Amino acid sequence: MKVYDWLVVGAGLTGAALSYELSKAGFSVLLIEENQDSANATRFSYGGIPYWSGTSPLTTQLASEGINRYHELSAELDQDFEFRNIDLLLTIASNTNPHTTRSQYNHFAIQPQLLDVNAACELEPMINPEAISGAIHFNHAHVNPQLLVKAYLSGLSAHGGEICLDQVTGFTREGVSTLKSNYFSKNMAVCAGGIGRSLLQNAGISTRLCFTHAEVIETIPSELTLRSLVMPAVSERFILESQSSNLDEVWNYDNYEVSPPSIDVGAIQFKNRQLRIGQLSMAHTNPHLERDLKQSEISIREQVNKVLPAIASVRGSCHHCLVAFSPDSLPLIGTVAGNIAGNIAENIYLFSGFTSPFVYVPTLAKRFALSVGGNFDPLISQLSPQRFGNS
Ligand SMILES: Cc1cc2nc3c(=O)[nH]c(=O)nc-3n(C[C@H](O)[C@H](O)[C@H](O)COP(=O)(O)OP(=O)(O)OC[C@H]3O[C@@H](n4cnc5c(N)ncnc54)[C@H](O)[C@@H]3O)c2cc1C
Repeated sequence: MKVYDWLVVGAGLTGAALSYELSKAGFSVLLIEENQDSANATRFSYGGIPYWSGTSPLTTQLASEGINRYHELSAELDQDFEFRNIDLLLTIASNTNPHTTRSQYNHFAIQPQLLDVNAACELEPMINPEAISGAIHFNHAHVNPQLLVKAYLSGLSAHGGEICLDQVTGFTREGVSTLKSNYFSKNMAVCAGGIGRSLLQNAGISTRLCFTHAEVIETIPSELTLRSLVMPAVSERFILESQSSNLDEVWNYDNYEVSPPSIDVGAIQFKNRQLRIGQLSMAHTNPHLERDLKQSEISIREQVNKVLPAIASVRGSCHHCLVAFSPDSLPLIGTVAGNIAGNIAENIYLFSGFTSPFVYVPTLAKRFALSVGGNFDPLISQLSPQRFGNS
């Protein structure tokens, strides 16, 4: 009977990065992922790295470490994950005062530039000038999410970590049960994205992990060229996250629409010329909710046609995933208070709920691995899931 030091559930960005860092720190690691094709939030993400987005000493330090960690990882993982600088254009709706919208960005550590319509369209000719009153411009960074995960998983294997295709169905004090077997481990980390909430709930562990249902169109490779990453300056998704997470009690209902669907017109093109176009977000407590993806695709294309008309009709298909977040936009990292067969489950950890995971996960995965190796980290302890006082 093999007993691992760490068993990690989920091979999206959070699980892949955490498994890699734990194995690099010298722990024996088993990573369990239920989906062969990993059609998860990481898979459908834009992969943008908002290293400018610190708003407090904690997040400013982490964002700065985050971008530096990518430079290290490029050499350390020795695989190309298409890390690059990119212009981020946050479009301001034509009926909105650009200066008022710009002022909403005053609290960020790195300040953006406000562009008028001409300057915005010069930077991104795909934008319809009639649809905007200006745009906010940040120097942004970008990776290919699938290639980044692949690079982390190769690094995990190189350090002796193991990966297994199976579904975790429950926790015991000694490890996890899965569809196929039982695995034994001294510690477990839940990196299961939006499903993490119900997975822990089934084990009698409550958390403040919330999630949105997200839908995005992935196109075939296109002859068109989108130079920048485009998103709206006022993000419906972030408004939805901040409003819906405050309604803690409703998240305990089984089948409840916390917030109706809304669409943020955004797009990114990858090196293989495929576009991801989105995104529709809604908050509903049922992670297995059946969605009409044909209808979502029509709705997304209608909205995209207003701002980025040339790409709105590029052939593609609509996909669904769950995106985890927390009530205060900070990740949930640390042991979860729980009760399994009468014993507090101090060896079950959460590493999830990141609002901007691409900037924070690489550095926090490394910090976490060092902290559980015995180097107390005051930054990690500030992110404990127990900061909300859940039982
Ligand atoms: C359209 C879109 C654009 C985005 N753009 C950005 C962006 O530009 N920048 C940014 O920082 N973030 C962005 N995000 C958010 C980001 O993609 C996600 O927050 C992040 O990828 C989540 O990673 P994760 O590892 O927590 O979850 P996931 O990627 O969802 O991975 C969780 C994994 O756990 C597995 N799993 C679940 N339950 C079990 C189980 N019981 N047993 C075994 N395995 C299990 C799942 O199969 C899945 O593979 C975007 C999201 C979307 C949808």
